[in-house]
Amino acid sequence: MEFQGEDEVSPRKAEYLKYILESGGFVKTTDIANNFGISPSTATKAIREMAEAGLLIHTPYAGATLTEKGEHIAHFIMRRHRILALLFSHYGFTPGEACAEVKRFEYHVSRDAVNRICASLGHPMMSVCGRIEHEEGCCIEPAE
Ligand SMILES: [Zn+2]
Ligand SMILES: [Zn+2]
Repeated sequence: MEFQGEDEVSPRKAEYLKYILESGGFVKTTDIANNFGISPSTATKAIREMAEAGLLIHTPYAGATLTEKGEHIAHFIMRRHRILALLFSHYGFTPGEACAEVKRFEYHVSRDAVNRICASLGHPMMSVCGRIEHEEGCCIEPAE
C-alpha cells in the first residue's frame, strides 16, 4: 500500500503520530498538550491540520484517532528510527547514544534510504530499542 506525501510530515507531527500510535491509536487533546508541553490550543491546531491531511480523525472536545494513513506513517516513523539506531550501534554507539544521535536527523531520511539500509543489514528483527517491522518493497522478498 502506497500513500503520497508521507515524507512531508514535519518532525513535530511525526512525534505526535508516534505518540498516538504508542498510546493505542487514540489520544485526548490534553494528552498531547501535556506530553509535549504545549498549550491546548496549539495541540488542537496541530490535530486539526493533521486531520485535514488525512492522518487523524478529530472529534472536537474528545480527541484524535489515527486513520489508516496516519497509522501507516507512524509505523514507518518507528521503523526508520529503529533501523537507523541499529546502524549507529554498529559504529561504536551505545544504545542510548545511537537513539539520541538518530533523533537529530531521522526525520530527513527518505523511505527509500531506510529500505536500502534495512536490506543491507539483512532485514534485522531487533534494534537497540525495540522490534523492527518489515514491509513490502523492502523486506518481503519476491517469491522465487
Ligand atoms: Zn531508539
Ligand atoms: Zn527490510
